[in-house]
Amino acid sequence: HGKENGRNNYQFFTESLNEVATERLSLENSLRLAIERNEFVLYYQPQIDIKTNKLIGVEALIRWNHPQNGLISPAKFIPVAEDTGLIIPIGEWVLREICQQHFKWLEFGLPPIQIAVNVSAIQFQEKYFLSTLQGILRSYNMNPAYLELELTEGILMRDADTATGELHSLKELGVKLSIDDFGTGYSSLQYLSQFPIDKLKIDQTFVRAMSTHASSLAIVESIVSLAEKLHIKVIAEGVENNEELEILQKCGCTEIQGYYFSKPLPADQFFEWYYARL
Ligand code: C2E
Ligand code: MG
Ligand code: MG
Ligand code: MG
Repeated sequence: HGKENGRNNYQFFTESLNEVATERLSLENSLRLAIERNEFVLYYQPQIDIKTNKLIGVEALIRWNHPQNGLISPAKFIPVAEDTGLIIPIGEWVLREICQQHFKWLEFGLPPIQIAVNVSAIQFQEKYFLSTLQGILRSYNMNPAYLELELTEGILMRDADTATGELHSLKELGVKLSIDDFGTGYSSLQYLSQFPIDKLKIDQTFVRAMSTHASSLAIVESIVSLAEKLHIKVIAEGVENNEELEILQKCGCTEIQGYYFSKPLPADQFFEWYYARL
């Protein structure tokens, strides 16, 4: 009897593994098609300087507009795109799209808008990332100063010496560099001071917890003063309410991104949002 049970368990185990593998394979296939069929869209979330109440720029955030399943969040498909290498063509599409969008908004009469874009580890480490980026900037005649690359601590600290060199090459192109989700990884402060970065983005978990947890508040305060001492900028992510805004203001953090000002918006809705504020 016990033996039979064991066999059933084994069978159940392999079947569910197969299921996972099959699901993954079909996701991979439809991701491939999604690139050809142009099913990705970018949403744009405003970033505000609360001292001047002016727009600093936007962060571009990808969504997959699946013909059957509707909008799919990047948390669902970016990991698969990374595992399969599809993040390379997807990342390229994102870079082209934001260059085009930058000029569309200009044509619509908006001032030039700085766009931040998330760069995955696989993309950053790929041999041709720098030259691809350079080619795209050139082909759109895009001023690199309006492009910000968001990297994570993990990307930079894995091999910090190599990363330092690559960051310098990117800076030479003229783009801006920031560290996303700052505080969640393991940054060596020594390296941090050597990286030619422009901005730290305080991770939203600290923002969320800072009003109830003294330790999170202490982390936010430390990141703000670290940025000050390194003469770089700092922005808080995921700010949802006035209480959080006031605490950040007290800490000296005046660049804000979050639902408090706006959720990420499709390009045309961002235009309306910004036009109404101008
Ligand atoms: P992230 O770069 O840290 O982006 C911030 C995430 O927080 C976004 O989720 C945004 O919609 C969300 N958010 C913004 N404000 C608030 C707020 O006030 N409250 C809450 N609860 N959430 C807020 P989203 O768009 O789902 O993106 C998730 C992650 O997917 C991003 O985290 C980024 O790591 C990745 N991602 C998004 N677009 C791209 C892309 O084009 N390429 C790559 N490689 N990764 C991307
Ligand atoms: Mg980001
Ligand atoms: Mg983040
Ligand atoms: Mg993140």
